[in-house]
Amino acid sequence: MVAALASFLDARRNSGAWHLRIDDIDPPRAVPGSVENILSTLTNHGLQWDGPIIYQSHSAPAYERALQQLKADGWLFRCLCTRTHLNMHGACGQNCREHRVDATAPHSLRVVVSVGDMSGFEDGFLGLQVPSQSQIPEDFIVRRRDGLFAYQLAAAIDDARPHHTHVVRGADLLESTHRQRWLHQILGLTSPNYAHVPVMVDADGNKLSKQTGAEAVSSASPAVTLRRCLAHLSQPAPPPSAISVENILDHATAHWTSAF
Ligand SMILES: [Zn+2]
Repeated sequence: MVAALASFLDARRNSGAWHLRIDDIDPPRAVPGSVENILSTLTNHGLQWDGPIIYQSHSAPAYERALQQLKADGWLFRCLCTRTHLNMHGACGQNCREHRVDATAPHSLRVVVSVGDMSGFEDGFLGLQVPSQSQIPEDFIVRRRDGLFAYQLAAAIDDARPHHTHVVRGADLLESTHRQRWLHQILGLTSPNYAHVPVMVDADGNKLSKQTGAEAVSSASPAVTLRRCLAHLSQPAPPPSAISVENILDHATAHWTSAF
């Protein structure tokens, strides 16, 4: 909700259109009804998107074309590593790149990362971001062992769609942004502008998410939720007279500032 609200306000404040994308390329992990929940939660909070919803599950041909281009340009190698063979960062643990893996063995496809050729970028909210030692991506997976396209590939291709100028999302994705910008670079695509907002964390500093057992955003009191998200984003509080979702969003749009 925090990232949705921030991107909505940033788009509205800058007279842009706000597009909604559903990252549904992982059918084994899809929870029935979760997409409908997301859509109704956004609508209940007044966050109405522009144009048709973009479903990644409809974009397989574009991802396949990108894979073929990467392959033709020599950027991919087969990796045999199972979970137990991956090193602690999730990177290839058996030097598969040097070993010419048999194509008939179950394998993932990894893209070669040349750290020296990676560039930093100007984050719309956080300023200059240069990959730090801990963020320098290893050769990462673009197609999984089970044949599905990896999140990094799909997100990179969709972020670089024509007319998508700005991507606003949680700071937990900064590392992914470096990877996705790398894919843009070697595919000859233009990266959009990226801006990252602070994520909500629990008492132990873990991001609130399904993975850490957080409950879904309730639609019981959308005005209260919007005010909490605005406070988290260091935005001025709408006056008490702003009671409806529309009033709160109008105020927040007019006063939107990215100085977190
Ligand atoms: Zn490997």
